[in-house]
Amino acid sequence: MAAWLRGQRQATSFYLVVSNVAGIMQTPTHFLIAGALAVPARRHLIGNTPALLLGAVLPDIPFALLTLWGLFYYRWIAPLPQPGVIMEYLHFTLYFTDPIWIAGHNFFHSLVVDGLLFAVGLWGWRHRQRWGVPLTWLATSMLLHVTIDIFTHHSDGPLIWWPVNWSYRFASPISYWEVAYGGATFARAELILNVLLSTYLLTALWPQIKQQFLRWQASAGSRQVR
Ligand SMILES: [Zn+2]
Repeated sequence: MAAWLRGQRQATSFYLVVSNVAGIMQTPTHFLIAGALAVPARRHLIGNTPALLLGAVLPDIPFALLTLWGLFYYRWIAPLPQPGVIMEYLHFTLYFTDPIWIAGHNFFHSLVVDGLLFAVGLWGWRHRQRWGVPLTWLATSMLLHVTIDIFTHHSDGPLIWWPVNWSYRFASPISYWEVAYGGATFARAELILNVLLSTYLLTALWPQIKQQFLRWQASAGSRQVR
């Protein structure tokens, strides 16, 4: 019985590690999508590359920081309040119940917050404030991130109306990780998408990378001559 339980626990931990790695994988996907969109936007002199790239990852940063803090806290400072794995407690209990986790994770995942930031950015843009353009593009990128999240989460989607509503999550028929909602197929599709986006970015940015490399080589060569 004890061995069976241990086996179950190991299987659960393995599943959690896999699902968490998958969770970490999604943030780079957001970044690659924004990067791929920034290339043609820059060519047509629209958008703001740093704001687009920052907006693609900013909504997920509090989650990553809270996870790191939680792992540290329950490993070294306090015992876990319930039996089980730390990651499970953080992502399946605190994520849904703790006000700090709810506010932290949903702040930039909220259509209310991002919509307001977009409106303020547009106002600043119109009134020729220096922050107007970057704020508008930052909010646009975060709204794109949230839209993708809404349609790729089933049980754990963002609280899109936070802080007005602290419980409503749209249950998408597709989940990027839950096996019951196509998670396994989605993970494979996401991997293919990432390879395609990386190839596109590398091809599009290759002239710039080459130029940088040649410049570095030339300066190293002149240092050697001296
Ligand atoms: Zn997200």
